[in-house]
Amino acid sequence: MNVSAEVLRELHRIHHQLTDLKDRLQKGPAQVRIGRQAVEHTEKELAAAKDAAKHTRMEADEKQLSLREREAKIVNLQRKLNEAQSNTEFKALQDQIAADKAANAVLEDEILDRLERLDEHQKAIHDAEAKLARVREELQKAEDRVAKEQATLHDDLARIKAELKHAEAALPPDFRSEYERLVKAHGEQGLAPVEGESCGGCNTMLTTQIMNQLYLSKPVFCKSCGCMLYLSEGHEVPGKKR
Ligand SMILES: [Zn+2]
Repeated sequence: MNVSAEVLRELHRIHHQLTDLKDRLQKGPAQVRIGRQAVEHTEKELAAAKDAAKHTRMEADEKQLSLREREAKIVNLQRKLNEAQSNTEFKALQDQIAADKAANAVLEDEILDRLERLDEHQKAIHDAEAKLARVREELQKAEDRVAKEQATLHDDLARIKAELKHAEAALPPDFRSEYERLVKAHGEQGLAPVEGESCGGCNTMLTTQIMNQLYLSKPVFCKSCGCMLYLSEGHEVPGKKR
């Protein structure tokens, strides 16, 4: 049973193309997935920034309400102070007014703090919205590009598979099952050219006996890595090998 190096070379070339096509077929959708993740992540960022702004605004509103209530209370106390009947009452009202004014001073600081934070949240919202628009646009571009690419790649794949079938038809029938087992398990890696006098798959030096079998176009497998070996172009005829 003979297997020509030419047929094996051609088969290896086709398997290499198949591997490459399959890689590219996976790469596109992976890029789209990454783009979708970026959109989802940014949507969450935006929602979190909006939540934080809402929470801070509520806090500021509540504090402003308390401030106004206490201001009204102070006005009321001030009126009572003017109508105080005794020194004790006067002093008590004065103390109460001082305490309420101090509490309001603290509140005013807190309100200022919340308004500053609100500004920061608004900026974060603005940034997240800009980022979201950008990642959405990038995703759209990736989806368009990948959809186009995939159509071409599927056409190429069909063409290469037909080429493979045609090339495989040149294999001796009693060798087919061994070849199929090999490429099913290892794909492109199941075949290796002889480089110098070494296996191109694992660099193991090949014996003279193996080299002779190759020159006789016998099917030969590397004893070390199990690759099916073939001679490179211009390497077929003994004596011409160097
Ligand atoms: Zn090997």
